[in-house]
Amino acid sequence: MLSSISVNNVHKIADKIKGHPCNIVITTHHKPDGDAMGSTLGLYHYLKKYHHKVIVMPPNDGGRYLHFLPGHDEVIFFEDNPDQGKILLSHADIIFSLDYGHLSRVNEMGDIIGQSLAIKVMIDHHTDPQPFSHYQLWDEHAAATCQLVYHFIETLEDTDKIDATIATCLYTGIVTDTGSFRYPATTPHLHRIVAKLMETGMKHHVVQEMLYNNSSLNRLQFIGYCLSKKLTVLPQYRTAYIAVTREELEQFNIQTGETEGLVNYALSIEGVIFAALIIDRTIKVKLSFRSMGDFPANEFAARYFKGGGHFNAAGGESEDSLERTIGRFLDALPSYRHILSLSV
Ligand code: 5GP
Ligand code: MN
Repeated sequence: MLSSISVNNVHKIADKIKGHPCNIVITTHHKPDGDAMGSTLGLYHYLKKYHHKVIVMPPNDGGRYLHFLPGHDEVIFFEDNPDQGKILLSHADIIFSLDYGHLSRVNEMGDIIGQSLAIKVMIDHHTDPQPFSHYQLWDEHAAATCQLVYHFIETLEDTDKIDATIATCLYTGIVTDTGSFRYPATTPHLHRIVAKLMETGMKHHVVQEMLYNNSSLNRLQFIGYCLSKKLTVLPQYRTAYIAVTREELEQFNIQTGETEGLVNYALSIEGVIFAALIIDRTIKVKLSFRSMGDFPANEFAARYFKGGGHFNAAGGESEDSLERTIGRFLDALPSYRHILSLSV
């Protein structure tokens, strides 16, 4: 075992995983990111080795940039056909919940999973998970859920089953959730896991190219527009934010997933320790927060925008207009003056 995990009782389902083939549904949070899709598909390819009938079913699609992942063509999005999704969930013997700890993160699927009689297994690294699952592999210090899927396979003494396909999926989530090995959760231990993934023959450079050299032209021009016209810096709070209207998203034909990474530009400014991206989506305004050091982005998100996440990367939402949401964001900053302001 490469490390100790906060909660790990998944060895108790080893017999189920290694036993008779059964129906397994793997779920993850809505608008799944690289870690969500990488972990679900990595687990999918592993479980298929035991001839289970496995379905990966997120609520919806996180974006074109993740479609290169092996197995993505077989993914079923619940919200594309909820009736079919409900039937698949009702037939499940085991439901995995990956990269989320609250049922609210899977929209309408949450109630169905909550009431399901299937064996429920949660693998996650977000703070304060809800107690909805029978078995857990949970560690808020893990860099990515993909790291925890590696530990899941390790707990079941099956690391020799990790092939280049599984490794490609797990590597993707580790790269995206660590900002390409930049964030503090990147440890020597994580690098050792990555070394093992690379030893499968997995082509890490191809993953990097698919993730970072594969942008649409309009997305790149949208980023340029946001940086030159939409970026506001508040030096007194060491904060920067970008707010985007619905019209601007349409003008640049921005698709789901194409705003991924934009908030990091705001954080990259010298002296800025807290950054926000505020986007007027069709139904709600969505907020993404990133911080450096000891500013608790998840606490800020939970307190003001019904959200959560990790200490330095969190998100939330608002039902107010974009203008009012920006106002509420600005009004909230003084309550964190003790951390944000240098002059206090
Ligand atoms: P992102 O800004 O990339 O959408 O999300 C950053 C982190 O915050 C992710 O770990 C994500 O799971 C979490 N997060 C984003 N939005 C929400 C939200 O509305 N509620 C909660 N609880 N977590 C969120
Ligand atoms: Mn994650």
